[in-house]
Amino acid sequence: MTPSIEFSSKKEQLDNQMMKLAELLLYLSSNSSFYRNLFKTQNIDISKITSLETLQQVPFTTKDDIQSFNDDFICVDRSKIIDYVTTSGTLGAPVIVPQTDNDLERLAYNEAISFACTGGNDLELYQLTATIDRRFMAGMAYFLGARKLGAGIIRVGSGIPELQWDTILKLHPTALIGVPSFILKLIDYAEQHGIDYKNSSIKKAICIGEPLRNDDLTLNSLGKRIKEKWDIQLYSTYASTEMGAAFTECIHGRGGHLHPELLIAEFVDLEGRPVAEGEPGELVITTLGVEGMPLLRFKTGDICRHYTDDCACGRTTLRVGPILGRRQQMIKYKGTTLYPPAFYDILDNIKGVINYIIEVSTNDMDTDELLIRVGTTFQDNTLEKEIKDHFRAKLRVAPSLVFDDPAIITKLQFPEIGRKAIKFFDKRTI
Ligand SMILES: [Zn+2]
Repeated sequence: MTPSIEFSSKKEQLDNQMMKLAELLLYLSSNSSFYRNLFKTQNIDISKITSLETLQQVPFTTKDDIQSFNDDFICVDRSKIIDYVTTSGTLGAPVIVPQTDNDLERLAYNEAISFACTGGNDLELYQLTATIDRRFMAGMAYFLGARKLGAGIIRVGSGIPELQWDTILKLHPTALIGVPSFILKLIDYAEQHGIDYKNSSIKKAICIGEPLRNDDLTLNSLGKRIKEKWDIQLYSTYASTEMGAAFTECIHGRGGHLHPELLIAEFVDLEGRPVAEGEPGELVITTLGVEGMPLLRFKTGDICRHYTDDCACGRTTLRVGPILGRRQQMIKYKGTTLYPPAFYDILDNIKGVINYIIEVSTNDMDTDELLIRVGTTFQDNTLEKEIKDHFRAKLRVAPSLVFDDPAIITKLQFPEIGRKAIKFFDKRTI
């Protein structure tokens, strides 16, 4: 299933991308009112954009652009749209991403070759522990990808550990697809109910939604906690609705591999200039082969490092390290650049911390101030010392801590029913 382009030279990959970019630019100039207008107002001659360097003259597309002019980004007539997915926007209302039949085919292809990157083939039986509906893209992508690969997939959906284990014991799936913290819950459930999970049919997990690795690509505490209990192979993935594609690790776990025929990836600093390999930068993507809502130089807001050396698996494709955080969530605290996920990784792994929120605000000196509110039933000095020691050891700083009733923190985390928990509150004024 793995396409030969993943093993071809960088030049061949780039040539293929540039050919597809030319098609995309023509497609956008005829079908996207947003980009047609952009090319006109910026005096961009699309026939001159033939390289990564010339592509840089095209201004970035932001999530706010898509949110403000959502309809202008849609390139197809309503009759061609099969599926609508939405993704949260920064301005309140969700962004609508319509999918044509070809887009669903592209999604299936992306996921099939991503599964192949994790050693998947027609013998694999996946258990999907993520939701397939609610206008999300991911669950459906996994289903379509498994089908294209010729593998099996059981759509258990999110939650319900009892049903998950019932399925594992009855149908013997070989791989889980899910959020790493949910895998921990499955382990807990198995331990409480005497299920011999270590000898179950599950041999690997395709992990979504949460990072598994530290900046240096070693397993983070979440990854380690799973691995210590349950020695299955963990594969980290990074994907987004706007990309309609995924970066997926191979068995060597050296960052998620790009599918060059589906995306052009750039990595930029705060001023929009390219960053060097191995440096943190914001991922900017250009979608290749998308019909419904193709994007040109879309700023994902996600900060990561990228690597271009050949991987031990033989693939020559670019790889991205774990997402360090969101660009907008970058915190400058006492001279250190921090992103909230680094705090999550520590707090998620301290016994006694039931839940928490992180607040950043602007202090009198116009710099970032951090406050961590921890929900716990053990409010004593030893817990405070333990948390601060972990922060100092891993992040080199120890922000202020206050303890609260876990019920109060839960209320703060879920201002809207049915949405994801909010753990980071940005109250900065500048
Ligand atoms: Zn690899």
